[in-house]
Amino acid sequence: MAQIIDGKAVSAAVKEEVAKETSRLKDEKGLKVGLAVVIVGNNPASRVYVNNKKKACEAVGFQSFEYAMDEDTTQEQLLDLVNVLNRDARVNGILVQLPLPAHIDEKAVINAISPEKDVDAFHPVNVGKIMIGEYAFLPCTPAGVMRLIASTGVDITGKQCVVIGRSNIVGKPMAMLLLQQNGTVTICHSKTKNLKEVCLGADILVVAIGRAKFVTGDMIKEGAVVIDVGMDRDEEGKLCGDVDFESAEKKAGYITPVPGGVGPMTIAMLMKNTLTAAKQQAGLE
Ligand code: NAP
Repeated sequence: MAQIIDGKAVSAAVKEEVAKETSRLKDEKGLKVGLAVVIVGNNPASRVYVNNKKKACEAVGFQSFEYAMDEDTTQEQLLDLVNVLNRDARVNGILVQLPLPAHIDEKAVINAISPEKDVDAFHPVNVGKIMIGEYAFLPCTPAGVMRLIASTGVDITGKQCVVIGRSNIVGKPMAMLLLQQNGTVTICHSKTKNLKEVCLGADILVVAIGRAKFVTGDMIKEGAVVIDVGMDRDEEGKLCGDVDFESAEKKAGYITPVPGGVGPMTIAMLMKNTLTAAKQQAGLE
């Protein structure tokens, strides 16, 4: 039976570190940390994410600035706001909640955010820095996964690591981070042949595909570390992951649950990135 990796506990520890450092910087340097969150339209899931980010800011002692814009906001209006926030000294990090309404070009908006304030690490400059291992921020979800793997005490060096999914926000940066920690990395996607055989070779398996309970116990090597990034709904509408937890936990050595695994880490790492941005902008890092 696998040991459960407790994302709530690990994320609480990250937020605690951030809160302590934020308070120290305020006392010793008079530095305030601020995050601007921009939401366009009425996507209910986005609203929940934005509220959670606001709460997390309050909990670690950041100022949070929310900009809620109408569904029919033009691209120009959104870019104007991003430019204002780029120049606003109170704002250390800018997060534009995705997805944006279809008439807005997401790429143009991401590219407009100053790389120094791009705490999601989606800007091409930050993506490029991850490739060469000289980054300031890591994209929040893969960074959270790395922290969860570290919490197991399993050393990534020399391990067979399999990442299923090759999105720009999860799969690709995830693979790069495992490679930087000396894993031997295979990236799988929808055209991969013999997926089950590839997965069975994995000492560390990270699944980010968006398909409920897709990875089953018979695809998992005995004792593997299994990280489930998926946030899906099962046939009863209940939140679940990309991994079939029930069969997988019988084979894995360590496994993340959904909810309570990767999800809480993403916001904790966003707080960490915002603090890093504030320190850099103040010339402290
Ligand atoms: P995405 O952009 O839709 O990418 C999905 C990836 O999975 C693609 O690379 C796709 O391959 C691959 N894929 C789909 N079906 C597959 C199959 N049958 N076999 C092998 N590969 C397959 O998704 P994403 O944004 O990376 O998100 C993935 C999941 O993580 C979603 O459930 C999302 O909700 C969740 N997520 C969670 C967090 C969090 O904070 N916990 C953050 C981000 C995302 P192709 O490239 O060939 O199409």
